[in-house]
Amino acid sequence: MVPEEPCQCPDCLRFYREHDRLIRENPSLKQQQELNWAALQAFRTLAGRVLEDLQKPPEQQADVEAPPEDESLQQALADLENVNAHLFSIEVFMERIFDVRVPEAVEQKFQELAGELAPDPLNADRLRLNRLLHQSPDLN
Ligand SMILES: [Zn+2]
Repeated sequence: MVPEEPCQCPDCLRFYREHDRLIRENPSLKQQQELNWAALQAFRTLAGRVLEDLQKPPEQQADVEAPPEDESLQQALADLENVNAHLFSIEVFMERIFDVRVPEAVEQKFQELAGELAPDPLNADRLRLNRLLHQSPDLN
């Protein structure tokens, strides 16, 4: 079977870029632990705060231009409660990840492989390669 080409739609391209950036900027186990913990907590804080606000009587809610209709509001409340429950479960699992400490040699391995997985797009070699590609004569 021929492996499928990775999707090149704008959403996927943005995802690949973001994925590589997160590796490039957080190339150690410790940094990945901190990053993912912070992202999870930020998501929980914001989603929890929105849920709390939507449960208040309308006159006490934060101002929004178009308040949701009652039926879609009830659906949104149920969805957000599910999201928060899932985030809480993830937090419980993620706490286990934080029990892990690795020797310096293993952290070095993280950094080494991070450089291979997500090389700096602005590094000298890449820029030179791009210039070469752009200057290559049209072969048609
Ligand atoms: Zn896609």
